[in-house]
Amino acid sequence: MLVLVINSGSSSLKYQVRDIAEGSVLTEGLIERIGVSNGGQGDGEVVGPADHAEALEQVGAAIHEVLGDRQLDAVGHRVVHGGERFGEPVLIDNEITRAIERLNPLAPLHNPANVLGIRAITKKWPDMPQVAVFDTAFHRSLPEHAWRYAVPDELYTNHGIRRYGFHGTSHEYVTNRAAALLDIPVEEFDGVIAHLGNGASVTAIRGGKSVDTSMGFTPLEGLVMGTRSGDLDPSILVFLARTGWNAEDLDSMLNRESGLKGLAGNNDMRSVVEAAESGDSRAATALAVTSYRLAKYIGGYHVAVGGAKALVFTAGIGENSHQFRALVGEKLGALGIELDAGLNSERSKEPRVISTNASAIPVLVVPTDEERAIAEATAAAVAAG
Ligand code: AMP
Repeated sequence: MLVLVINSGSSSLKYQVRDIAEGSVLTEGLIERIGVSNGGQGDGEVVGPADHAEALEQVGAAIHEVLGDRQLDAVGHRVVHGGERFGEPVLIDNEITRAIERLNPLAPLHNPANVLGIRAITKKWPDMPQVAVFDTAFHRSLPEHAWRYAVPDELYTNHGIRRYGFHGTSHEYVTNRAAALLDIPVEEFDGVIAHLGNGASVTAIRGGKSVDTSMGFTPLEGLVMGTRSGDLDPSILVFLARTGWNAEDLDSMLNRESGLKGLAGNNDMRSVVEAAESGDSRAATALAVTSYRLAKYIGGYHVAVGGAKALVFTAGIGENSHQFRALVGEKLGALGIELDAGLNSERSKEPRVISTNASAIPVLVVPTDEERAIAEATAAAVAAG
């Protein structure tokens, strides 16, 4: 089965074609600047495709060049917000598309773009089976005590203000692979998964299911990220609002100017580690805050899962930054966790153990692959009818 995976943003469209039986990637690409024109300013006119439909024409042509006569069997869409309704990938029809659209207020930057991608495919290939794979779905298993905010009830009942969690596709995929590496059924996996990319979240897994996760109503809550603050005292926003900051100012500060960027002036972990190693004290502080926040969450989630049996690192930083993993590891001695310096600093693309034999629980590095997970979920949903 050939599956086209679409990750549609407001002005970009990432795609990948996968052969499910072979487990291979046949082609992939990124179309940018959708609907963006510089109006002829600057060095020549830079004009992207007018809309998502035109971007898909480009994708269709690029795919055709690689596939020749082979036909796509299905399209899988990464959809950011599935709200309280979607706990599984679903085959898309008009009603599902409208349901995703109704969730726009909860993910105003993402769901509208996802819907544009779905409608563009429907227009181009009306008979193509399409599947929506939701970033929030894996966290539908959170118990109420983990997803409730302690605010007046009507904020939840009237506005849907609760914790939803994100990165679910990655957390689920990595949970399955970690259980396989440990040679236990996923239903017996209790552990903590740290997805550390430019966006970062940590999830408590009990019996293979998500029981708590650090991102909340939006992806802003929780860990210190590339440009997002993660947790802070909400009164800071009230304080700033009283001094004249408006909603846009606050949103931009918290989501785009904070995190590693706010603390160290750079959102890229490699650069921050290098700066810290060459004596930059702001970078050292940024690493200390970021690793401490994560270590606190890991301690909390050890409790949430009734005693973690494994700790797993994944995504750009989790898979590649042995320096950052070491900083987190050295704070976890109270849990009996001990990283093996040699194993930790080895480079590999394979799932692996990086803790010592004496460590109370194994610490793993498991590469994530969200596109593969979406493609496989799409194939399964199509096969199930
Ligand atoms: P992601 O969002 O998963 O692509 O992760 C992006 C983050 O991973 C950035 O902070 C990068 O600096 C970090 N990263 C990627 N490759 C490496 C590497 N080789 N060493 C350290 N950090 C890395």
